[in-house]
Amino acid sequence: MTDKEQMSLFDITPSEIPLVELPHAEGSAEAPPAKKTARSSKNISPAISNTVPVSEQFASLDALREVACNCQKCPLAPTRTNVVVERGDRNAKIMIIGEAPGEQEDLSGLPFVGKSGQLLDKILESVGFDIAKDVYVCNTVKCRPPNNRVPTPVETNTCKPYLLEQIRLIDPKIILLTGATSLKSILAEKLAITKVRGQWYEWEGRLVMPIFHPSYLLRNQSREQGSPKWLTWQDVKAIKAKYLELMGADSVVGDDEEF
Ligand code: SF4
Repeated sequence: MTDKEQMSLFDITPSEIPLVELPHAEGSAEAPPAKKTARSSKNISPAISNTVPVSEQFASLDALREVACNCQKCPLAPTRTNVVVERGDRNAKIMIIGEAPGEQEDLSGLPFVGKSGQLLDKILESVGFDIAKDVYVCNTVKCRPPNNRVPTPVETNTCKPYLLEQIRLIDPKIILLTGATSLKSILAEKLAITKVRGQWYEWEGRLVMPIFHPSYLLRNQSREQGSPKWLTWQDVKAIKAKYLELMGADSVVGDDEEF
């Protein structure tokens, strides 16, 4: 299978793209593609505290979910339909962190189930990941911001203990940050997604890679070399390679021929 054929595995046709402006997109249509694609790991300082006091830690993900589903701590609580905590396998070694629930997620109670989520799944499946068992998906904030606006710093910081506890309890080897909000929440405030996507960072003993949010890819359909979609394909191949490296030679996910 050629590179071009494999990239087409995570295409969504233009007719499938919502006509309205997609929420939670990073950058803009005019944003230049990132030029820096270094694969070395970097250490970075956290934007805010990355630890939850032991007294406030959850015993399990079920306990976390129960508390989060009744949470009223930030201004997003009154307007939500459902608290959107997680989907995927709690034993997965790859954790994907998005920005916030959108309309479909708010209605279903599951993260990344709209067009962006479908594309995210296609991207991962294009290199042989099994969505049902290889990844765990969540968001920076668990409740939908009104009109899909970007969560405020107060909202992301208030919700961050839930996210940190999800990371602690899932214990992923790789964390993928989709888009600017999750990038800011986990790594640092002043990093631009277009500058740092595709790079590995060391964070709290884990490997972290920022990647473009799939909604940004939906708005940028080009598959030309250097385009956001092409860059993301390079990223997902690097993620697959690192995953296999971390899991050991005996752990193979999917079909190597497709990879
Ligand atoms: S977004 Fe997070 S902190 Fe805010 S109400 Fe929902 S669960 Fe609570």
